[in-house]
Amino acid sequence: MTYVTSLKCREADCGRMYPIEPSHICEYCFGKLEVDYDYEAIRASVSRETIEGRPPTMWRYREFLPIDGEPTVGVQVGFTPFIRARNLERALGHSEVYVKNDAVNYPTLSFKDRVVSVALSKAREFGFDTVACATTGNLGNSLAAQSIQAGLQCFVFMPADLERGKVVGTAVYGVNVVAISGSYDGVNRLCSEIADRHDWAFVNINIRPYYAEGSKTYGFEILEQLGWQAPQHIVVPMAGGSLVTKVDKAVREFVTAGLVEDAGTRIHGAQATGCNPISAALKAGEEIFTPVKPDTIARSIAIGNPADGYYAIEAIRRTGGWAEDATDEEIVQGMKLLAETEGLFTETAGGVTVAVTKKLIEQGRIPPDESVVISITGHGLKTQEVLDGRLREWPVIEAKMDEFDALLEELTPAVYAGR
Ligand SMILES: *Cc1c(COP(=O)(O)O)cnc(C)c1O
Ligand SMILES: [Zn+2]
Repeated sequence: MTYVTSLKCREADCGRMYPIEPSHICEYCFGKLEVDYDYEAIRASVSRETIEGRPPTMWRYREFLPIDGEPTVGVQVGFTPFIRARNLERALGHSEVYVKNDAVNYPTLSFKDRVVSVALSKAREFGFDTVACATTGNLGNSLAAQSIQAGLQCFVFMPADLERGKVVGTAVYGVNVVAISGSYDGVNRLCSEIADRHDWAFVNINIRPYYAEGSKTYGFEILEQLGWQAPQHIVVPMAGGSLVTKVDKAVREFVTAGLVEDAGTRIHGAQATGCNPISAALKAGEEIFTPVKPDTIARSIAIGNPADGYYAIEAIRRTGGWAEDATDEEIVQGMKLLAETEGLFTETAGGVTVAVTKKLIEQGRIPPDESVVISITGHGLKTQEVLDGRLREWPVIEAKMDEFDALLEELTPAVYAGR
């Protein structure tokens, strides 16, 4: 049973419909295509109770996902932890902060497990035997792992100089890895050409409309885990700008389906200052972004020419949100702040989100008494090198009690004197 009606052009003044096929661009206006649903039928058939009665995975929202039959790939993905971050609240001088933690998503520790799960379930319905992607790191990790689980041939195209954790985290699965010199934007251009020649499912190119729908489940989980309520603010990291638009779509869909009340949720976007085409456009009051050449430690979100940048700007504006960016130094401070307050280790993209949330609170754009959810989308073990030389130093001693006694006296003189 599916509630999907068509693919639909996202351009407001076009809106042409297309059949459910592996395609992503409107032939008339070159707008991006998006999956559309019969929301009246969904509203009539889902309730909080039916959803709560299902297993704790992203597939509990299956009426809102573009699969005809049962999902066949990534059936255990999602329903990651959602916490009230009381220590972080104190550090930020704010009264209600939550963290949605996809750093522990299954199986590859980032939110990309959601999009890949939908993309590969759909690729199988379409009858593809080979899947591929252009990646900044996490997508490759997830596509490689889940293609093995799905029994599909897999090609991952990535910039040659990605972090070691991201490269190893793809190559370990034994899939076809192609490293390309230069930035992600060149990788993506090449992949568009390859997609024209080969009958492969490029998850973030020709089957992108289906893939992108998986991101909505990140938003759905926030709303359910907050007790079927929409928060007043959500801060989302932006690479191609898809996740931020899908978190917005998730909120609108749950309001339309009668599952949550409209709380006027403001969607805010976070980028690195070294790759900020979307936040720069918003700050300059532009509707169109100018592509940039990325130069940031936040490699997973370093996309200089974001495919959904235009729609990201539209969603942020329409909801009354804002966008900010964080320097490399602020990114590292953001990673450390989350670790030292909440005991959560996020990658550079999470450092961006924490740092940007701090800025938005300081700027008064997120008032101290309005609920805010911080989107943590990937795990810190994948980007360890940015912390080299940036952590509190630890001593090295011989395995001798007197050396430890001396050390303890040095570390905690007051406590030691009292013994
Ligand atoms: C891919 C990615 C994002 C953002 O993705 P979009 O392209 O904007 O949908 C955010 N965080 C992490 C860790 C990612 O890997
Ligand atoms: Zn169109």
